[in-house]
Amino acid sequence: MIPPAFEYTCPTSVDEAVRALADAGDEAKVLAGGQSLLPLLRLRLAFPELVVDVGRIPELRGVREDGDTLVIGAMTTHHDVVHDPLVRRHAGLLAEATATVADPAVRHRGTLGGSLAHADPAGDLPAVVLALDAELVVAGPRGRRTVAAREFFVDYLQSALTPDELLVEVRIPKTDGWSFHYEKFHPVAQAWAIVGVAALVRRDDGHIAEARIGLTNMGATPLRATAAEAALDHYVEIGFAGFANIVDAVG
Ligand SMILES: Cc1cc2nc3c(=O)[nH]c(=O)nc-3n(C[C@H](O)[C@H](O)[C@H](O)COP(=O)(O)OP(=O)(O)OC[C@H]3O[C@@H](n4cnc5c(N)ncnc54)[C@H](O)[C@@H]3O)c2cc1C
Repeated sequence: MIPPAFEYTCPTSVDEAVRALADAGDEAKVLAGGQSLLPLLRLRLAFPELVVDVGRIPELRGVREDGDTLVIGAMTTHHDVVHDPLVRRHAGLLAEATATVADPAVRHRGTLGGSLAHADPAGDLPAVVLALDAELVVAGPRGRRTVAAREFFVDYLQSALTPDELLVEVRIPKTDGWSFHYEKFHPVAQAWAIVGVAALVRRDDGHIAEARIGLTNMGATPLRATAAEAALDHYVEIGFAGFANIVDAVG
């Protein structure tokens, strides 16, 4: 299928990109890795007048530390997230879950910011950033604002971004020393999740001091399993069989 005609611009700074979005009103779309947007254009499910390609803005790529926080540029590809030593050390859950996204070809093009802005509840990474208590930094014509992951995913394929805003970076509190796992149920290898669970546990002296659980594809948005988290908090170390019993008990 051939996409509808559109104007194309390729800014080299965040300010330039935001200006292009603001000038176009509701008629523009940001292009990141294109792994979700291009199929939508080809199927003629989206008709933007302008496509703003943010692939040449150096500020949007890479991973850095800011004290106890890991900062990941929105245009950092899934491949780079999986292999980044800082992500593996300080946000291992994100590296583990990102390695389950699609196949190597998609992971080389698709980006963390694109996956979050797309707000697909079947995507693996929205539930993961929710469980990690991440914050998302957004740039718009009125300046920058920070949105908690809990408030970012508004509805099915709908985020808190307005049409003139650009997701710039994702800020993740470091989870050094936490145990974590992303379990994805999918019918064939390298496919979308039917359901997925992102779990993190901080232990303290044989107890679970804090548990966080994000759920993939179990609602219109990614969800936190707050009842299961509350049941696990302060629970004495129980091993995996005990954990499974609790999850059964709280449904
Ligand atoms: C075959 C295939 C299999 C896949 N399997 C999986 C899977 O198993 N798990 C999974 O999680 N994902 C999967 N994906 C999706 C993949 O993760 C995409 O990379 C992701 O959904 C979109 O990222 P992108 O960078 O390609 O964004 P794009 O497609 O470029 O953009 C997606 C949307 O987000 C908006 N957007 C992008 N970046 C920004 C930004 N910085 N600020 C504001 N808006 C922005 C765009 O305007 C568009 O609406 C799959 C994709 C394909 C093609």
